[in-house]
This record gives sequence, C-alpha cells and structure tokens, in this order.
Amino acid sequence: MKLVLLGPPGAGKGTQAVRLAEHFGVPHISTGDILRRQVAEKTDLGKKAERYVRAGKLVPDDVVIEMVRKRLKQKDAQKGFILDGFPRTREQAEALDKMVKADRALLLFLDPEDLIKRSTGRRVCENCESVYHLLTNPPKEPGFCDRCGGKLIVREDDREETVRHRIQVYDEQTKPLISFYKEKGILVQVYGSGLIDEVFERAMDALTGAKR
Ligand code: AMP
Repeated sequence: MKLVLLGPPGAGKGTQAVRLAEHFGVPHISTGDILRRQVAEKTDLGKKAERYVRAGKLVPDDVVIEMVRKRLKQKDAQKGFILDGFPRTREQAEALDKMVKADRALLLFLDPEDLIKRSTGRRVCENCESVYHLLTNPPKEPGFCDRCGGKLIVREDDREETVRHRIQVYDEQTKPLISFYKEKGILVQVYGSGLIDEVFERAMDALTGAKR
C-alpha cells in the first residue's frame, strides 16, 4: 500500500497513519516528525527548517522534496508507505508523482471548529513522541505518557494562533491537492470525527471498497 494522507492540521492524520502503517506493515513517514527531529538535533537541515516549523509555515519545497526522496529510497519503503504531511503543495505532489505512483490518497476531513479544538487539545510526550488528546485520547495519569512515563507537552505549533495560521496555509496551499488526486482517480474521503477506532474502520472501508 502506497498511501498519501491528506487533511488539515488537527484532522487526525498522524494517529490514523500509525494504525494504517501497522495494519499494512509499511513505514509511517511523517515529514513533520522528521523535521522536528532534525530541529531538535540541530542538523544542517534542522537549522534551515526551524523558523518555518516554529511559525507553522511551510518549509521550502526543495528542502522537503529532497528529504522525502532520500527517505523513500530506504529499504523499508520499497514495499509501501503511509505518507503523513507530504505532499503539501502542488510542486511537492508533482515531485512525488515522478518518484513513485501512490495507490490511494486518503482525505480526512473535519468541521472547521473541530480542528481548533483538536489541535489545541493535543499533548505529545517530550521523550517518545507518543500523541495524546485531552478529549479523545487522554493519558491514564494526567500530564504523563502511558508508554514511557515522559512529560506531556503542548507542541509549540499547536498554540491557538499558530493553529489558525496552519489551517489558513492548508486552505491556500494544500487543499488544491484534493482535486489533483481526484483527477488521478485515487482519492478517497473519510469523515475524521469520532473515536480513533471508528475513524480507522471508516478509513479501512473506504480503502478496501475503493480498491480496483
Ligand atoms: P505536521 O506535523 O505535519 O503538522 O508538520 C509540522 C510542521 O512541519 C509544518 O507546520 C511545517 O512547518 C513543516 N512541514 C511538515 N511537512 C511539510 C511539508 N510537506 N512541506 C513543508 N513543510 C512541512
């Protein structure tokens, strides 16, 4: 399964990507995770990307495209992948299409008001990067990770003002990709509201039902 996940920030792409990757036995490739790691490790790429990531702005296309090109060449990605957070612009979508043909593009959509609630309720483990949500997926002990006991923090780009900006960036730059994939005949759409398991079931139905 070579799958591209589309959808606004806060729609639950990352959470569903983990489940889908497990189900299909392919790697979950999140450009946001890779970039955040590079920033934390202060690599050359991280230094280039840092100001964009902090502000919720898109990292320049050439930087992200090269990063994905390298990642997709790795052995584990040869049998498939779940791409989460890439492509985000027309240029990225066209570059990806030249690298490899996706089987499906799965759009997770939500009502706009829900997006703000979702993103601002998100908490991330500062140690192992597990993701929680105060409303839909709270940790057993408030403030601490179930998996490793690490401290849960609010990602800097999940602050409300930044979230609003990221949604605007999505509307302007990434939304047009819906028609890009529709025209290719590989788009499936799933409503992202509800429990994680429910959304996963919906996604699986949409993906298997739409299989050629
Ligand atoms: P995400 O975790 O996918 O929301 O990504 C977090 C941040 O990383 C975004 O707000 C961007 O600054 C940057 N980023 C992630 N993926 C991309 C991409 N495909 N193109 C440009 N910037 C990206």
